[in-house]
Amino acid sequence: MRGPSSSHCAASLRIGRMCRDLMDGDIKEVLIEYDPNGSLATTHKGQGSDMGLFGGFLGWEAHDERLPDYLKAVKAAGMDIQIEIHDIQAEHPNTYKISLKNEHEERKMIALSTGGGMIEVIEIDGAPLFMAGDYYETLIYLQKGSSILDYLNSLGGFDEINEHSGDMDFVQIRAQAFLSDEIMQELEAMDEVLFIKKLAPVLPIMSRQGVSVPFITCEEMLAYNKDKDLELWELAIEYESMRGNIPKLEVIDRMRDLVGIMQKSIDYGLLGTEYADRILGNQSKGFQEKMEADSLVHNEVLNKIILYVTAMMEVKSAMGVIVAAPTAGACGALPGAVLGARAAMNLPEEEAIKAMLAAGMIGVFISAHATFAAEVGGCQAECGSGSGMAAAAIVNLGGGNLAQSLSASSQALQNSLGMICDPIANRVEAPCLGKNIMAASNALSCANMALANYDHLIPLDEVIETMDKVGKSIPNDLRCTTLGGLSITKTSKEIEARLAANAGEGEEIQLSPSRFKVC
Ligand code: SF4
Repeated sequence: MRGPSSSHCAASLRIGRMCRDLMDGDIKEVLIEYDPNGSLATTHKGQGSDMGLFGGFLGWEAHDERLPDYLKAVKAAGMDIQIEIHDIQAEHPNTYKISLKNEHEERKMIALSTGGGMIEVIEIDGAPLFMAGDYYETLIYLQKGSSILDYLNSLGGFDEINEHSGDMDFVQIRAQAFLSDEIMQELEAMDEVLFIKKLAPVLPIMSRQGVSVPFITCEEMLAYNKDKDLELWELAIEYESMRGNIPKLEVIDRMRDLVGIMQKSIDYGLLGTEYADRILGNQSKGFQEKMEADSLVHNEVLNKIILYVTAMMEVKSAMGVIVAAPTAGACGALPGAVLGARAAMNLPEEEAIKAMLAAGMIGVFISAHATFAAEVGGCQAECGSGSGMAAAAIVNLGGGNLAQSLSASSQALQNSLGMICDPIANRVEAPCLGKNIMAASNALSCANMALANYDHLIPLDEVIETMDKVGKSIPNDLRCTTLGGLSITKTSKEIEARLAANAGEGEEIQLSPSRFKVC
């Protein structure tokens, strides 16, 4: 993906693409409503939600190189987009209430960004439902009060069929592919059927009916492994293969691709990035020069990690391609720690792939029982998660065993509890760079502590459970709303004002009173 924040840029782009599909690719007017108590009211422009969402309306990919010029593209496409901020009774801080219109129809969608680029569509046209972008979704709009369930059930082969009633009645079909042309023709010929919408999946891994996983807690994983004696990276392959219904070799190949992208991003960052619209200049160049001149306090592994984290963060801030692992704001800590340590230790690529698989397994537990979203859990959800994942990975690089990987992860997460999110000038650059470096440094320390068999005391599952509770108790002002912490310092506000002045008023999307009528 490109952009500063996965929960803003990548997730919103996915939501935008689903909106585009709901409108058969024809969007003329959009009204976006944000709740003043959520994160998006204050961050939608600065952290890239506008960029991602509008890019999705245009049908772009999350890594599309046109994303920085999204405003010009939206104007060229003739889209009229309005944003309103008022009480929409949103329960989640990243709630998008979107109304769409073209010459023929008006549709509505409410969707959430739940962290790390994941999404949930929770309402369409006034009807509560659930979509996560991991199925081929077909919506068959019907004459009020009619039903075609018998016909659909007779076809079979779908993962789910759900009837919904909101402003209109429709059936939601979730499947591994869209309906065949033959079935579409039969449906379109029925008196009950008004029209049909097809929403393509936006996630790289599909879901399916009866999907099961071998374990979803650390305790379950250890029980599963009792007679197997697998390492953490091997358990990750078992999990991913079953979850994604893909061969084990494909899991490794997919991780190889991700590691390749991460390494390429770091290499690109080390060449020196330039980007006008950012608040930090190029820091990695000076660090690299000091390293080469032997002018830093000696620590080959840690200094390499600092350099790699910085290079990755600078690529992210220059709108280059990154892997949101686990998020875009925290895209530096994990790859920087793992690939930096691997480089300093002169290990082959295969070791980095195994280490990143081990990290991913920790990420699954965090995602299942806490969150990656800073809007929900503060920076402990982003950089803290990255640190816990990287700690397990570095143990793997260091030749440690499963118990040591889990211990390192537990210790790294314990050290990260309570980290607040307070981006300076509403940009995901600072203190994000320093926090990513702190997370990576913490990971290295905890990996070595675990390799030396320090006692972590609290099992990983309990730490993750605590992480979730602590995150929710962080005040709203310090959970990516830019309403507290460093975000509201005098200097932060001055930088923000300077950036706004530089942006050029002609390109602003206006916040305006509603003139949008929704049927
Ligand atoms: S402070 Fe942490 S959570 Fe907040 S934007 Fe920066 S990296 Fe993300």
